[in-house]
Amino acid sequence: MALAVTRHVSRSGIRIYTLPIEVFPRFWGNVYLLLGDGIATLVDSGSGLGSSDEHLLAGFAQVRDGWGEAITPADLRRIIITHAHIDHFGGLTTLRQHTAAPITMHALDRRVITNYQGRLLMASKQLSLFLHRAGIAGAEHARLMQMYGWSKEVFRALPVEELVEDGDRIDDLLDVIHVPGHCPGQICLRLDEILLSADHILSRTSPHMAPETITPGTGLEHYRRSLHNVARLDGIELTLGGHEDPISDLAGRIAGLFAGHERKITRILDLLREQPRTVAELSAAMYQNLDGYDVLLGLEEIGAHVEFLYLRGHIRPANLDPTDEVPTTALVYEVF
Ligand SMILES: [Zn+2]
Ligand SMILES: [Zn+2]
Repeated sequence: MALAVTRHVSRSGIRIYTLPIEVFPRFWGNVYLLLGDGIATLVDSGSGLGSSDEHLLAGFAQVRDGWGEAITPADLRRIIITHAHIDHFGGLTTLRQHTAAPITMHALDRRVITNYQGRLLMASKQLSLFLHRAGIAGAEHARLMQMYGWSKEVFRALPVEELVEDGDRIDDLLDVIHVPGHCPGQICLRLDEILLSADHILSRTSPHMAPETITPGTGLEHYRRSLHNVARLDGIELTLGGHEDPISDLAGRIAGLFAGHERKITRILDLLREQPRTVAELSAAMYQNLDGYDVLLGLEEIGAHVEFLYLRGHIRPANLDPTDEVPTTALVYEVF
């Protein structure tokens, strides 16, 4: 069952329609359709999985029937992908059959779209090493690696027609703010007093973090800097995320996200003061009852915080042995 489309109108009169899409089973995302004078822009595309494409087309139908807009996917002038996670770009495969609108995104996420399988293999190599160093071995390592590769067949590479950078203005309307951290090429878009925050800032959830050793441009160091950059924006009255609800108090939400990461950092330091631990041991102590893909997400989340603490000189591996040249040895961290 598709949910109802909602509408906001920006100060300069651009209509912003929120199309709710079930991107994974029981996990919803927001696609935005921006309409105005000569503007017909889709922001993200859903996942292309399960009901996603159906919800996307039903969203267009609701915009036509509910608000009298003459819009079909064939009328789109541009598709902006906020970042290269499958729940945001996977719908491009179907959209490409309906529209020739150019795909616009940040250069640092382009390879995921243009070289999907190759990039997945590269990330898998880095993830494998991360898991070994985190203290995951044997059957559990194989299980998590297999899980990571689940999406290998779900997307065929597509060309990306236009790249944008921080500070660019799209169609003399949308200001691009590059916010690496959750994804290397993550962008937010500013339209008058409204911020489309994608997965950089969500109303309830703290966006997933993974260590930079797996994908450069991710990680907590980048993410925190990007939060500071958004906090400096003046005059944002409404923030619309890639998931969850609209945010009216952007500064308060950013403060909440900083505080959440601070709590995790404090907890990790407390656990490491008790005894040296691996990332896997920290994750097991901090997250009980994880199963399936969430185990991998938990390890990445803790891995990102451990990396942050290591980069800033708060912790160090306690078991570095100059004679051990094996790159996959698990690292046991201590506070110093
Ligand atoms: Zn994402
Ligand atoms: Zn997402």
